[in-house]
Amino acid sequence: MNKKQKKWLKRILLALAIFFTVMALDELGVLAGIFGEPGALYASFTLYLIPYLIAGHDVPLKAWRNIRRGEAFDESFLMTVATIGAFAMIFFPDTEPHMAEGAAVMLFYQVGELFQSYAVGKSRKSIAAMMDIAPDYANIERDGSLTQVDPDEVQIGDIIVIKPGERVPIDGIVVDGASQLDTAALTGESVPRHVEEGAEVISGCINMTGVLRVRTTKLFGASTVSRILELVENASEKKAHTENFITRFARVYTPIVTFAALAIAIIPPLMGMGTWPDWILRGLTFLVVSCPCALVISVPLSFFGGIGGASKLGILVKGSNYLEALSEVDTVVFDKTGTLTSGTFNVVAIHAQDGVDPDYVLSMAAYAEAFSDHPIAVSIKEAYNGDIDQTRIAQAAEESGHGVAATIDGREVLVGNDKLMAAHDVSWNDCKITGTILHVAIDGSYAGHIVIADVVKDDAEQAISDLHAAGVERCIMLTGDRDEVAHAVAKQLGLDEYHAQLLPGDKVEQVERILETARGNLAFVGDGINDAPVLTRADVGIAMGAMGSDAAIEAADIVLMDDKPSNIARAIRVARKTMRIVHQNIVFAIGVKVLILALAAVGIANMWLAVFGDVGVAVIAILNAMRAMSVKRD
Ligand code: ADP
Ligand code: MG
Repeated sequence: MNKKQKKWLKRILLALAIFFTVMALDELGVLAGIFGEPGALYASFTLYLIPYLIAGHDVPLKAWRNIRRGEAFDESFLMTVATIGAFAMIFFPDTEPHMAEGAAVMLFYQVGELFQSYAVGKSRKSIAAMMDIAPDYANIERDGSLTQVDPDEVQIGDIIVIKPGERVPIDGIVVDGASQLDTAALTGESVPRHVEEGAEVISGCINMTGVLRVRTTKLFGASTVSRILELVENASEKKAHTENFITRFARVYTPIVTFAALAIAIIPPLMGMGTWPDWILRGLTFLVVSCPCALVISVPLSFFGGIGGASKLGILVKGSNYLEALSEVDTVVFDKTGTLTSGTFNVVAIHAQDGVDPDYVLSMAAYAEAFSDHPIAVSIKEAYNGDIDQTRIAQAAEESGHGVAATIDGREVLVGNDKLMAAHDVSWNDCKITGTILHVAIDGSYAGHIVIADVVKDDAEQAISDLHAAGVERCIMLTGDRDEVAHAVAKQLGLDEYHAQLLPGDKVEQVERILETARGNLAFVGDGINDAPVLTRADVGIAMGAMGSDAAIEAADIVLMDDKPSNIARAIRVARKTMRIVHQNIVFAIGVKVLILALAAVGIANMWLAVFGDVGVAVIAILNAMRAMSVKRD
């Protein structure tokens, strides 16, 4: 509880104590003994007003402020009218007094409000706590000694030192030292990650064992940690349909019930169907019950909880609308490389043309790929394992879905697939080995090809069967790779459908075609490398492996911090659970309200029942909403 809430609680407790004392004095006839009749009535009026004002003086003020801002019908308005109305029943001296109810309604309303504020604060905090990844400082090395500075002050290329127990403040590359990194706060994964010289480290992880010297590759503002925090903070702005519906609903609902209450209070007595105090009281009770707070608060709270729960698993959802869309997914479309497969290719064979040195073919490929981040490029450079002298590369261009074209030592080098060769009128040799084929052409003549192979990720098969088990009807793979490779992967993983040899543009077309036949929503899962257009075209774009790729975080609606496809089924489960809770709350809250409203209208429910109904429903709905936050890894 924060300070404000503690003060609030004290006020409520004090008011409750006074309230029950007054009630005891009243009921035991002490007031009547001292003040006589009708003095006791006025005494109790004044006495009940004390706890009312202590606990609830700001509610009428808030109602008044909102009216002046043009937002007349909110819950503080309903509560103000109902409670003041109850006190005003004193103008009907012939009827039972209702001051006690007036004060009680305000008191319990405040108890509910406090609980709400506590619950919201708690869930918000738990996302923040879970996302407690923001570093406070960076140790920068200057003139041989260490200084602690604000992470904002560190420049790209500075050397920072991260001691065991400290958080990595900025993305960079290890230049010295080896250690284990705890990435749990980012990915939900508890197995530490080993890093040593040359490895990339990502901000937000905790250094566990050794001292690391890291050369920064980004500014703090562009580092993973800053981008993730920004994303989480903005998540509540993107509202789900259900949330917007509730807001709109409350906007029309409150004036309607206010007028209904007015009608109940006025029409029947005018028609001579009963006494004024009787019907006015029914109208006031009606007002208390109709307060929509349970709905207004519990629905956003459930989404909040769902987003928080997902982020505990390393699944970042950019808004409740995406959680809602995800819960209705029945088709999942995957990119292959880096998504279902690890994206780290091994060189299986190098088939050079007669008179060409295979090592030369590999080195030219590595040079041509020097500036590419494509998984193929990264793997080829790894396999080449030599230094690349960038001055020898005059020009290099990536042709998306084809390969690369570069000028090296003044010679035109092409590295890529059949399509690239065909586009440049180079004839090539086919290869019988199953694998991804990288043709290499130099100055328009064919030099040979490199066969590379990728492995499917450990959990890819599990991921597909989990999705099927979760009721996803179709799992489809799209790839720019050869048909044979695609076929082998599709068979191994149990995919329902696959399409090979697609250019990035073709993937968009395929997704549009699939969208036409899908009954539910379509999710596309990619690694963000040249599939950004598809990520945005799908109903839900899921990017994986945010621990590295900027493109992924930008283009996607949901980001999986880990690059594990099995997290998709988990994300869908969290989304469905959240939506179940949202719907439960809506049905429960509206159901109970309608019931008590009906009872109030016919005069069976009194104000006591009304206020307990209102606060009770709100508390139950909030507790239910908080369930969305608790998630299991499996
Ligand atoms: P995927 O659909 O499997 O993710 P991409 O669309 O990224 O694959 O690439 C499709 C194909 O284009 C690759 O299989 C490869 O043949 C070729 N290709 C793309 N980028 C490169 C590159 N940088 N170097 C060589 N070949 C590439
Ligand atoms: Mg790809």
